[in-house]
Amino acid sequence: MDYQAVLEEVAAQVRPQIGCGQVAQYIPALASVAPEQFGMAVVDVEGGVHGVGDWEVPFSVQSISKTFTLALVLARDGEKIWQRVGREPSGNPFNSLVQLEYEHGIPRNPFINAGALVITDRLQSLTGDASSTLLEFLRTESGNPDLGFNPAVAASETDNGDRNAALAHFMAAYDNLENLVPSVLEHYFWQCSVEMSCRDLALAGRFLARHGLRADGSRLLARSEAKQVNAVMLTCGTYDAAGDFAYRVGLPGKSGVGGGIIAVIPGRCTLCVWSPGLDERGNSVAGVAALDRFTTLTGLSVF
Ligand code: GLN
Repeated sequence: MDYQAVLEEVAAQVRPQIGCGQVAQYIPALASVAPEQFGMAVVDVEGGVHGVGDWEVPFSVQSISKTFTLALVLARDGEKIWQRVGREPSGNPFNSLVQLEYEHGIPRNPFINAGALVITDRLQSLTGDASSTLLEFLRTESGNPDLGFNPAVAASETDNGDRNAALAHFMAAYDNLENLVPSVLEHYFWQCSVEMSCRDLALAGRFLARHGLRADGSRLLARSEAKQVNAVMLTCGTYDAAGDFAYRVGLPGKSGVGGGIIAVIPGRCTLCVWSPGLDERGNSVAGVAALDRFTTLTGLSVF
């Protein structure tokens, strides 16, 4: 497969969509990002790295971080985490509060904000420093020691974090947090503020295409656990658009409101696409279109 040629064709085909949608407004530090940007990277299981456009420009990973924290918790804790968080699509926006009360403080899945807070809470208990554990992992897997948090983005999220604070307090009331709410929120906001490029993210997510094997060949996840993370990405990774994403793209994918999306073709490659304009569900307009084009042009998907 000539991934480079495919990427260039995809970039040409989605050009009209670049700049469409809205850059995330509810985090003021993200609202100033220039919308007319687009990058896409593919890293194959043999280590080949390919990219097009702004694929080496760092952006805010936001909810893409939830994929990695889930993997880090599964690696340490196994199945136990599923007593505290479900694995069903929510059909609701990523920051919705309503289901939590009906479902007694157990979030639907680890990729909506409530579920991600539970995962960060558990990672904090297991490691003593959830956000640093995540950053260290991302640096190692991407081979980029310069990756870091963006303190301005973390502060902006904290200043505008009432919904996430409400979710966390609500779960604490149901005894579904082990650490104090302010500490869980702090680590969650730091994890969302990490800045990475498409290249970095595709490299860091390569273990999902390699059935759980890390960059150095050691095992992070059992083969079945890597399958589980990919399955939850497919069904829940793009929130209340997960059905449409599966229909159009046909791959496990995880989006973030920074405009990035990672996607996985197990056994073959990990992709990352970035373009800041979001649709009303918080997924990158040009990003979803590019993944749609990629799987259509190549015929590669999990179906
Ligand atoms: N940090 C964002 C939030 O908590 C992440 C949301 C997202 O990327 N979907 O609202």
